[in-house]
Amino acid sequence: MFKLITKTNIFGPDGQGRKDILIAGEKIAALEEPGKINIKGIEIEVIDGSDLLAVPGFIDPHVHITGGGGEGGPATRAPEIRVEDCLSCGVTGVIGCLGTDSLTRHPSSLLAKARALEIEGLSTWIFVGAYNLPTPTITGSVRSDIALIDKVIGAGEIALSDHRSSQPTFEEFLHLVAECRLGGMLGGKAGVAHFHLGDGRRGLEYFFRMVEETEIPVTQVIPTHINRNRRLFEQGLQWVKLGGYIDLTTGPEPVDEEEISVVEALGQIKQAGLPLTQVTVSSDSNGSLPVFDKQGQLIGLTVASQKDFLRAFQKVVQDGILTLKEAAQVFSTNAARFYRLFGKGKIINGSEADILLFNRSLELQYVLSRGKMMMENSQLRAKGTFSAKE
Ligand code: ZN
Repeated sequence: MFKLITKTNIFGPDGQGRKDILIAGEKIAALEEPGKINIKGIEIEVIDGSDLLAVPGFIDPHVHITGGGGEGGPATRAPEIRVEDCLSCGVTGVIGCLGTDSLTRHPSSLLAKARALEIEGLSTWIFVGAYNLPTPTITGSVRSDIALIDKVIGAGEIALSDHRSSQPTFEEFLHLVAECRLGGMLGGKAGVAHFHLGDGRRGLEYFFRMVEETEIPVTQVIPTHINRNRRLFEQGLQWVKLGGYIDLTTGPEPVDEEEISVVEALGQIKQAGLPLTQVTVSSDSNGSLPVFDKQGQLIGLTVASQKDFLRAFQKVVQDGILTLKEAAQVFSTNAARFYRLFGKGKIINGSEADILLFNRSLELQYVLSRGKMMMENSQLRAKGTFSAKE
């Protein structure tokens, strides 16, 4: 119930220096100068944090928790994610989404899976919908799903500028965004429309038109996979200049010169003097990574993993591209703020106790998710419902 992390160097994301962190149940109850917290008469678990660096639990805002894929037939439907997959990589919060396949996958299954992961120790939210417009819903409309279902915080991932999209008109695009906005207002949520961007030449055309032609705020939408090619990335930088947010996708090291790694992308954003606060990073985990030839034929398939998400965090700090504080902000705090995930993305008094402790080589040593010990001394303790029966 009570845990005390002593003398740990906190980047939450603000550098708070060395502090003791008292955890009571699921929350951070106190952050004090080392030695100041003195509790007697109750059992308390003490973690020596003196050689460790504390950052907020990662939030991965684009995860195919029920599995994505299916673009090469039924055998290519990717498997569901397990709670251990997330916590072993320091991810304590995920936003789940469907993808290309809204025929054999459903928003209701996504909601059930999000609830399961929450019971198993993660914090979860979902986007209602899938690639196509009009998009599938649970209660009959995007607006009512967002307003009425606790876990639904927006719609996504809706595909644009991609050969797999339903090729929505600009009006269909606007209608979806408007539904998100209204649902968000009625439900007291962010109500974000989250768009998958493909390699198509139209890129962010609809986004720029939305800003020019309508009253919808720039922060009602966010494009993802923005680092998939250089032209799209350039448009993404323009979008950030207009006040918009972009989401970068982690993955294996790019083999194609057109693709930009998250580490390189973050370096370019920082060098251009653009605000890192408007950038989120996601793993696209358990989505398939299809490889197409020039004729659009599928020629290969792999599955995205949060291992690449953790690796990108480590590399961007180790290579000196971002400070630890900036990286913590990009991999946790920004998503919490943009999607209005209350109590998340910060190590402060009263916030939820989602804490990662790294050693000086940036190897993950401890993971606490809502106050529960999920990794201890680099050993994974988290177990899902079925893996517990080994
Ligand atoms: Zn996508």
